[in-house]
Amino acid sequence: MKILVIEDNPSNMKLAALVAGNAGHAVLRADNAPDGLALARAERPDLILMDIQLPGMDGLAATRALKADPATADIPVIALTSYAMKGDAEKIRAAGCDDYLAKPYHYSDLLAAIGRVLAESAQRSGRRPE
Ligand code: MN
Repeated sequence: MKILVIEDNPSNMKLAALVAGNAGHAVLRADNAPDGLALARAERPDLILMDIQLPGMDGLAATRALKADPATADIPVIALTSYAMKGDAEKIRAAGCDDYLAKPYHYSDLLAAIGRVLAESAQRSGRRPE
């Protein structure tokens, strides 16, 4: 599978790319939202790992833009956030994210979230339209 990581912090990028790469996925990288949106449209990744705190356009706005574009609306998004404050989970879900992890997370937590979200996505796309 192809996983796009949108993350501005180099060490967070390194960890997310390592987890995804070691799980056998091809990894695409962007360090800001506009580049990430362009890569998502061009490459149609199977999953996006989205940092929420990005310079300029943040991860919530970027996720809303992805979900509003028919070309990228079906790509699942896992939000990676430094803040896990009350109400954040609702905001993250409302923006269209499928799941989220609070940083710092354990390697195994991200690995599990990737597996879970990809499995759910495969199940959705295999389902016949009603
Ligand atoms: Mn960040």
